[in-house]
Formats: sequence, C-alpha cells, structure tokens
Amino acid sequence: MRRVSIFGATGSIGQNTLDLIRRAPDAYHVVALTGGANVERLAADARALGAEIAVTAFEDRLPELRAALDGSGVDAAAGAGALLEAADRPADWIMSAIVGSAGLAPGLRALRHGTTLALANKESLVCAGPLLMAEARAQGATVLPVDSEHSAVFQALRGEDMNAVDKITITASGGGLRDWPLEALDGATPAQAGTHPNWDMGRRITIDSASMFNKAMELIETHEFFGLPPDRIDTVIHPQSIVHALVRFRDGATMAHLGAPDMRHAIGFALNWPERRDLPVALLDLAETGRLDFRAPDLARYPALRLAHRVMEAGGLAGAAFNAAKEAALDLFIDGRIRFTDMAPLVATVLDRLATEDRLEAATMTLDMVQQTDRVARDTARAVAAQGRHA
Ligand code: NDP
Repeated sequence: MRRVSIFGATGSIGQNTLDLIRRAPDAYHVVALTGGANVERLAADARALGAEIAVTAFEDRLPELRAALDGSGVDAAAGAGALLEAADRPADWIMSAIVGSAGLAPGLRALRHGTTLALANKESLVCAGPLLMAEARAQGATVLPVDSEHSAVFQALRGEDMNAVDKITITASGGGLRDWPLEALDGATPAQAGTHPNWDMGRRITIDSASMFNKAMELIETHEFFGLPPDRIDTVIHPQSIVHALVRFRDGATMAHLGAPDMRHAIGFALNWPERRDLPVALLDLAETGRLDFRAPDLARYPALRLAHRVMEAGGLAGAAFNAAKEAALDLFIDGRIRFTDMAPLVATVLDRLATEDRLEAATMTLDMVQQTDRVARDTARAVAAQGRHA
C-alpha cells in the first residue's frame, strides 16, 4: 500500500488527486492532508479517507478544524511549522499542490526524506529550481512533474538521451481573452479573465492563463526541470489543448504528447509512476477532434512571455522576484487597483529595480534568500503600484 500525503488537498489539484485515490482505496494509505481556509472540506476528506493528520495553514482556524475532526481519530494541526512536520511524516509519495510560494518549504522538507515529490506547485521550481533539484539529487529523491505540459515532456522523454534533444515546446491555449481585440484588454475584468476555454482550474491560475503569466512560469519551470537553455524552449498557441507539449530531437523527429484536457491524467501518471494504470479520463479520438491548430504567440498580447526569457537568462533570484511580483500584481488586479494590462509592466519594473539594487544575483541559493527576495519583490510591487509608476 502506497503511503501518500496531499499538500493543498482542498484545492483544484488536491481534489482531483483525492478523486483518484478514492477510486482505488485499497492501494493507498493517506498520511497527511493539508489545506488553508476551507477547513470544512479538509476535515470531511480527512475523515472519509482515514488520514493520520489534517493540517490547516492558518493557525486561527485550528479550533474549527479540531471541532470538525472531533471523535474521528484524525490529528489536527495548524500553521507553517505544522506543514513542515506533516512533510516529516513517513510517506512514499507527496503531492505538492499548495498554491504560491508557500508550497516551497514543505516540498523541500519532503525531499529531505527522499520522498517522491509530485510537483504541481510550479512556484517551487520558478522561485528555487536549483535549490529544489539539488536537494532531490542529494537525497536520491524523485521529482515528478504534474503540470500537464511538463508531465507531457517527461513522458515524451522516457528512455531518451537529453543530448539528442533539440527543442522543447509547451503548448498554450491562449486563455480566456485570446480572441479579444488588443485594445480591449485594458478593460478586462477579473471575472472575464477568470474564465478558461478548456481547463477547469483554480481562479488565480485561470487569470494567469489569460495573461500568459502561467505560461511564463511554465517556460521557467521547463528550463529548471529539464535543464535546457532558454533559447531552446518555447511555446505555441494551440486553442484545442489536446497536444500538451512537443519534444524535437536532433534527428528531425518530434514526439508530441496528446490527451484530453483533464488534470487527472498528469496527476494519475505521477500517482502510478513508474507504471501506467487505467485513469478515468476521456480517451482521445482524433477523427472526432477533427483539427488541431497552432500559431505563434503575439508578444504584444502576452508580454509575460518576454519576461520569462529575461528571468531564465538572469537566473539566480530572478525567478523568486518574478513569481512574487506576479502574485502581487495579480492580487492588485483582482482587487481592482490595477488594470489587466498593468500586470506585466509592473512585474518588469520590479525586476528592473531589484536588478539595479543587485538583489537578484546568487552564486548559491538558500531558502532564506528566496523568502527574503519574495518579501522585497512583493513590497516593491505594491509600492510601485501605489505610486502609479508601473505603466
Ligand atoms: P487552488 O487555489 O485551487 O488550491 C490551492 C491549495 O493551497 C488549497 O488547498 C488551499 O487551501 C491551499 N492554500 C492556499 N493558501 C495557502 C497557504 N498560504 N499555505 C498553505 N496552503 C495554502 O490551486 P490549484 O489547485 O489550482 O493549484 C495548486 C498548484 O498547482 C499551483 O501552484 C498551480 O499553479 C498548480 N497547477 C494547477 C493546475 C490546475 O489545473 N489547477 C494545473 C497545473 C498546475 P484552501 O483552499 O483550503 O484555502
């Protein structure tokens, strides 16, 4: 029986993971489930799955969690320290599906124990890719990608020699505003940007898809995970979201990974790895699909893509600054304080400022440095926006 813990169990990825676990209850023992504000969901799932412990990230929610778990035999805990302790509990497989940079520390801690880490939390790789991958190598731990594009690349590379790879292309749907006239984007509301044509995801990642900040994060994630230089990684717009990624080899062959847009494929692949097992996802019928379209992304519409290449070239702490500035910009957009089209210039301004102050260079990286950069970049983003200097 595989011992599994799910960090971010109450979220979109977490719930899809639990859906797969529920379908094969005899195959898994649930060690820890963690969540944030949705204590009711966390407690209900922990009870139903017989978890050892349920942890909410927020200390003030502990009494509520305790009350909801009363008599269940499931331990309750809260706070950042409790998340790390949950990562210390012996497990064979951990899903890292907390949203944002808060996912980094528990993932790193799990790797310290050599646990297989299924990584949905792309922020971990964007903020601290070298740190995370070095820890995995040092402990002999496996990191499995859960983002659909990276899972697709991982599958296309099975048994291949990285030296034979010429280029990796990850596909992008183009998000909910892809067909809007360019000049209308200034007026896009969070509700309009938060609608996705193909994928059913959390609200923040859906808005990040419309701005392509999500794709920018994924380009950086590709660079950190597969180690290819930035000029050999790109993205192509593919509105149908059927082809998830392509690996082009030097001999002229291109391997593409195709599948229905359902996160349970990538999650299930990681959950069953190294085996392939049946999954409750629609099977592809290309005759029914009919056509697959591709086009190059317009950088005027998606300036975040240019920023991704800048971050990959810069290395060091640029990823941590980029992610934090992007999260702050997204909060400001959701709160109605900046426009949709202000987000990328704001992030660029933060990167400029921190580079001028020599805050982005790092020969070696520590968790403290990453967290410090995160704080400075968020504060800078808020200050720049408050001064109206981002446009
Ligand atoms: P959701 O917002 O749906 O869920 C996030 C999870 O993190 C919830 O369990 C939430 O708890 C918890 N959480 C929120 N804030 C904190 C915090 N400060 N500390 C600890 N836990 C917290 O996100 P998604 O499931 O959509 O995404 C999770 C990660 O996976 C992200 O990194 C995302 O980029 C990535 N990803 C998501 C995909 C998707 O299809 N959704 C696809 C590929 C990658 P609660 O809800 O209880 O507050």
